[in-house]
Amino acid sequence: MLVILSGSSGVGKNTVINRILEENPNMELMPTITTREMRPGEEPGKPYTFISKEEFEEMIENNQLIEYQIVHGFYYGTPKKIVEEKLKKRKILIKDIDVDGTQVLVKSLDNVITIFLKPVSKEQLIERLISRGEQRIEARLARYDYEEKMSEKYKYIIVNDKIEDTIEKMKKIIDDEYKQCIIDN
Ligand code: 5GP
Repeated sequence: MLVILSGSSGVGKNTVINRILEENPNMELMPTITTREMRPGEEPGKPYTFISKEEFEEMIENNQLIEYQIVHGFYYGTPKKIVEEKLKKRKILIKDIDVDGTQVLVKSLDNVITIFLKPVSKEQLIERLISRGEQRIEARLARYDYEEKMSEKYKYIIVNDKIEDTIEKMKKIIDDEYKQCIIDN
């Protein structure tokens, strides 16, 4: 089963995913790749495999990606082989994926659960982006309205007001969906 968490940049997706992974040893971060630079605190494979634009374009050419998108000027994508193998082994994967990539994954894979995380307000989101020292705030906000519109396509929407409440809601959704997934398969 794949749990996709989407939402505008700065809404808190990574905090939520890290907490979910800490508290659920049976879950794994879905491996994805990007051409953006590594941020402080990140390391190869966590949360991305960081590769060059040329390497990424070679993977596109060789049909090695289930999906890829250009987000905020960089490539992001989901490698086919490794993800399909993990899903075959019945792993529960989780990852933040942009709203367009999500639609492709829903069509390409079985048992994909989509969750959209919203901020309490756009103002709160801007404050968060400023406080984390984000350099390209305008580029990140440019997608906000589009992402909010696309949230209608998600199975679940959570407003990230209090982080603890968000984690509890996520855990319940994942538990319920996993039970259903076992019954269905
Ligand atoms: P960030 O640079 O902040 O880590 O991520 C920027 C955006 O890329 C986020 O909206 C995130 O959801 C999206 N993203 C991360 N990995 C993937 C991926 O493998 N595929 C797609 N389509 N989007 C991704």
